[in-house]
Amino acid sequence: MPTENHAKVRILLKNKKAKVIKRCPFTIQLLYESTNYTQDVSLGVDAGSKHIGLSVTTKDEVLFESDVELRNDIVDLLSTRRQNRRIRRNHKTRYRKARFDNRKRKDGWLVPSVQNKVDTHLTVIRRVHEILPITRIIVEIASFDIQKIKNPTISGTDYQQGEQLDFWNVREYVLFRDDHTCQCCKGKSKDKILNVHHIESRKTGGDAPNNLITLCETCHIGYHKGTVKLPKTIKRGMSFRDAAFMGIMRWAFYNKLKEKYSNVSLTYGYITKNTRIENGLPKDHYIDARCISGNPKAVSDGTVYYQKKVRCHNRQIHKNTILKGGIRKRNQADYKIKGYRLFDTVRYKGNIYTIFGRRNSGFFDIRTLDGTKVNKGSVNYKKLQLIQPNSNYLIEFRKHTV
Ligand SMILES: [Zn+2]
Repeated sequence: MPTENHAKVRILLKNKKAKVIKRCPFTIQLLYESTNYTQDVSLGVDAGSKHIGLSVTTKDEVLFESDVELRNDIVDLLSTRRQNRRIRRNHKTRYRKARFDNRKRKDGWLVPSVQNKVDTHLTVIRRVHEILPITRIIVEIASFDIQKIKNPTISGTDYQQGEQLDFWNVREYVLFRDDHTCQCCKGKSKDKILNVHHIESRKTGGDAPNNLITLCETCHIGYHKGTVKLPKTIKRGMSFRDAAFMGIMRWAFYNKLKEKYSNVSLTYGYITKNTRIENGLPKDHYIDARCISGNPKAVSDGTVYYQKKVRCHNRQIHKNTILKGGIRKRNQADYKIKGYRLFDTVRYKGNIYTIFGRRNSGFFDIRTLDGTKVNKGSVNYKKLQLIQPNSNYLIEFRKHTV
């Protein structure tokens, strides 16, 4: 469990009663028997396609919070590979018999970019499990609950918070259905604030999705002032396209997670949003995760671990363009240059950085995880000190106010 008592840790390490397991977050393993007592600890996961928010909380304390940035280069890399292969096949080469047809997609096959996101979700959760005694995991699976809209009499623990929360659910659904675009100006006003407008008044028309429409604030205010007219196609009870496609990634991830851990439950974005606003918390991935974990009042010391998933390999062996004289230049640098690998964590002038590029001359491109270069991307390797060798989860910690 997290400790504020740094002196004690130092003594434990000095007396060889503990050893260092991880540098960031700094984790030690005790080398003596301790009690098995642990508190009730819950992990909230804000699953997403670009970021994952993680928050481990007890009733009144935040133990660990993290914001994970996912890879978004996979589609690009794969289409480059496809192109390269196409070019190669069009070369005049010796005849080679067709390989027999042994290519079949397994059941549960996902697009590589989605599969990578699912895997990353599972890995970051496993890594949290390795350092903290998690008793339950709660995942936000979608922004609204479609079953609840179709069948309003449904009941459950989350369904007892009254009509207001029900409206929040329908509201998220309507925003999704309308593609988060104003249905009056179709986004021409450039107003990013969206309202959900009752086509007939709430009293007579009710809160059903067929009486609601997404409008930007400019159009919404304009309509009520009488300066903007809604298109004639918008009237109560009109049919809209149904939200059949509901984020395959989050469902695939949720099902895999349930196979691995026993205490997994789900929640919806509209509940998270409601909790966040009720507690006056700002919007961020880790804050949402804190609300999802069920302990929005837990107090944090402001530490957020920022993680970034990067590629494990560089598979393209040769550069695409062939040099004069038919020389193919290698695309990969040597395994180690001056003893350093790509994505090694290093110390330079007292600060922690990651190696993002290496040159044979020994001048490296080191950066912080938000991409800020040091010395215009050219630092002599002699001035670096290795902190942690290459890992495909880059991590650094940042201080926030909440
Ligand atoms: Zn508009």
